[in-house]
Amino acid sequence: MEMRHALLRWFDSGSADADDQASGASGASGASRIDWLRVLPFVVLHVACIGAWWTGVSATAVVTAVALYAIRMFGITAFYHRYCSHRAFVTSRATQFVLALIAGAAAQRGPLWWASHHRHHHANSDQPQDVHSARQHGFLWSHIGWFLASGNFSARSGLVPDLARFAELRWLDRFDVAAPLALIAMLYVTGEALAVNFPGLQTNGAQLVVWGFCISTIVLYHATFTINSLAHRFGTRRYATHDDSRNNPWLALLTFGEGWHNNHHHFPGSASQGFFWWEIDITYWGLRFLQRLRLVWNLREVPTAMLCVRLEPEGI
Ligand SMILES: [Zn+2]
Ligand SMILES: [Zn+2]
Repeated sequence: MEMRHALLRWFDSGSADADDQASGASGASGASRIDWLRVLPFVVLHVACIGAWWTGVSATAVVTAVALYAIRMFGITAFYHRYCSHRAFVTSRATQFVLALIAGAAAQRGPLWWASHHRHHHANSDQPQDVHSARQHGFLWSHIGWFLASGNFSARSGLVPDLARFAELRWLDRFDVAAPLALIAMLYVTGEALAVNFPGLQTNGAQLVVWGFCISTIVLYHATFTINSLAHRFGTRRYATHDDSRNNPWLALLTFGEGWHNNHHHFPGSASQGFFWWEIDITYWGLRFLQRLRLVWNLREVPTAMLCVRLEPEGI
């Protein structure tokens, strides 16, 4: 493929979809092949974290990195996962758009892409068709390989007709680099403005980009990926679901509630994934707060019958 076209795919995933269909990359052969040119930005982002060696660090940079991790993790779990994938609550079109921007800034591709692959995961959990099953394809593939494979770059459009109705979501899905690039620009401008007006903070544009985007986003990637890898391997099983999902309190803290993954596979439709008060689920608390502000409503709760523990004899 010519170079110009290859580069265009970084910015316009719509052009990539056509390529995939023409080359057959979206078929079975592309499912396990990593297109290194296409994933170069992802690789470069990892390497860019070393930039902290030159930019140094400041309290402002660390606070920015942590805050952007938290805001965008909430965007991924509340919006991409619980709303787009599972329709666990209702919101207005305006709030839907704002949440899509926040989640999109995590650089985990667009809402249609994320939700369609996730719906496919629930329909085929740990079966041969499940593209990020550790049982089927190995641990490393479940964590990161599948995300980089040519065959998994296109959204499974047929699985998300409810989301595809919205032109703005389709646009954010096609140009999924828009929100991350906007965040990078905002960080750079803010950092430069702080350097001029508040030199005592010892920060600048490059430092805020390295910490607030590069490092924060990389940690966010791998924390999210643990739910496909570690949360199908390590933890306890309360429910005898037809997959390897586990409840893992450490992952639940790291991912704002997603670590209660066995609960989630047992009843995917609820707004909460911590089913009992001791199962900390920060995303659910956030959604309850947004409900108080009347920004979201009709949070789906877990039916009492679903809470009945179905323990297995041992293992799975
Ligand atoms: Zn799962
Ligand atoms: Zn799910």
